[in-house]
Amino acid sequence: MSRAADSIKGFFARHWRVFAIGFGGLALIIVLLWYVTESPKNQLWGPTVTSEPVKQKVVALTFDDGPNPPYTDRILEYLHAEHVPATFFVVGLAVQAHPDIVRREFADGNAIGNHTWDHAHLILLSRTHIERELTSTEDEIQRVTGEHTELFRPPFGARDFRVISVAHQLGLQVIMWSVPLPADWTQPPPRVIADRVLKYVKDGSIIVLHDGNKGHAADRNNTVEATKIIVTELRKRGFRFVTVPELEKLGYAEGATPPPGPTEYGPFYTPRL
Ligand SMILES: [Zn+2]
Repeated sequence: MSRAADSIKGFFARHWRVFAIGFGGLALIIVLLWYVTESPKNQLWGPTVTSEPVKQKVVALTFDDGPNPPYTDRILEYLHAEHVPATFFVVGLAVQAHPDIVRREFADGNAIGNHTWDHAHLILLSRTHIERELTSTEDEIQRVTGEHTELFRPPFGARDFRVISVAHQLGLQVIMWSVPLPADWTQPPPRVIADRVLKYVKDGSIIVLHDGNKGHAADRNNTVEATKIIVTELRKRGFRFVTVPELEKLGYAEGATPPPGPTEYGPFYTPRL
């Protein structure tokens, strides 16, 4: 072995503890950053809705990333035939491309939510850019349905205090979820998607499925079929389906705290003066 390689080896042998601590620390920081920015239940950056503490068998079905024909249409047909309302978190550019589908979502009695213009990872953007992502989508939803939405779900669940405070300033509630994501976008068989969801459903749960792919086209046949299994099995268990706003109303009626006022934001929230 050369002298250089030997001395490098010696250096690592002498300092392995420093490297171990360094890598361990880095891993810990990454896990913590993930937790505070993407974990659906973390309330550190400000309040979000993940479920409602109701004592009745109600559940909210939500669909992200659409509209995406023909899969969103097929979901709508099924939900309409079964009298099941859902909540669609739509991507602005897909709303612009498929306004008729969003009109139908709304006309059928579903709730619509804002999922940004192009499925941006908002914590990487400036405050102005975050605002633009939300307002352009809001404008498009309003143009297409004639209605303003108060619901917003950050793409990837990623948010920090700026994302939450911008949303609140625009009159939007941040809606997360309580049932772990079934990764339906990786297109496992419908039964697998359904089982991943059904295992975790409780009274007042919020379920997430994906009818689109970040606002773009993708095969969502397995999600369509999984929706049917989930609805059928939850009905057998005695569950009733409601939209997110309906679920919230039931929650407040049973003693949950309504969305907070401007003085009640989380510890890291600093109001913009
Ligand atoms: Zn999404």
